Amino acid sequence: VIEIKNLKKSFGDLAVLKDISLTVERGSVVALIGPSGSGKSTLLRCVNLLTVPDGGDIRVGEQSITFSGKNTALPRDKVLAGYRARTGMVFQHFNLFPHMTVLQNVMEGPVTVLRKNRHEAEAKARELLAKVGLADRADMVPDRMSGGQKQRVAIARALAMEPSVMLFDEATSALDPELVAEVLGVIKSLAKEGMTMILVTHEIAFAREVADKVIFMRDGVVVESGPPSQVIDDPQQEATRSFLGRIL
Ligand code: ATP
Ligand code: MG
Repeated sequence: VIEIKNLKKSFGDLAVLKDISLTVERGSVVALIGPSGSGKSTLLRCVNLLTVPDGGDIRVGEQSITFSGKNTALPRDKVLAGYRARTGMVFQHFNLFPHMTVLQNVMEGPVTVLRKNRHEAEAKARELLAKVGLADRADMVPDRMSGGQKQRVAIARALAMEPSVMLFDEATSALDPELVAEVLGVIKSLAKEGMTMILVTHEIAFAREVADKVIFMRDGVVVESGPPSQVIDDPQQEATRSFLGRIL
């Protein structure tokens, strides 16, 4: 469902992504691991076009875009919004709308971007809140919720856009340890339902459990990629071994 070819991105003189190619099969889970500064967030942001790549191709589902530096024609606003919607992103900090209730947060995108009627959007939002275990919190404002609850709202909000892929950028790393499990539980149930996902995570045990493929990045390149039984349990590259040795 996602194919990335020869992706490149620099910020000034700093080459952050150097010729990255990878494929994410429909219904599979890819865990992206690697040291700080290796380009993991930048890669996710390129997939969802929050960051515009300098070169390469990205295909998500049917839609593919080729980037060639200066004259990359991004799709028109409307198409771009639709494209972004199909790649649901969940960040480390939840970025919820603070002045809206939980229900309104989840309904906002479907109503304003997908032009769903409120009735339909609300029914769907309530269904998603139930799915993330927050059916009874629909009328709360995010301020009064725990980090784990806020993150589950953020997941419901991304799902409300009916994305073909979900991108998680360290979705649990800002959470108190006792709240991590409830968010990982939601991610795991999405994996069971066959949602296609890319997870940037430091939770190596979790990556081993849910990922079909683990990709280890360092300095803007993919060093090693394969099933968890290989990349985590039997890494072939010294760089992977030393990274895992440091964080496990
Ligand atoms: P972490 O594990 O700390 O989140 P990461 O692998 O996600 O790291 P990125 O956030 O992708 O790494 O950053 C890769 C490099 O790109 C870093 O050196 C960072 O400082 C740089 N960088 C990222 N975004 C920008 C930007 N908008 N402008 C300039 N430099 C940037
Ligand atoms: Mg990051």
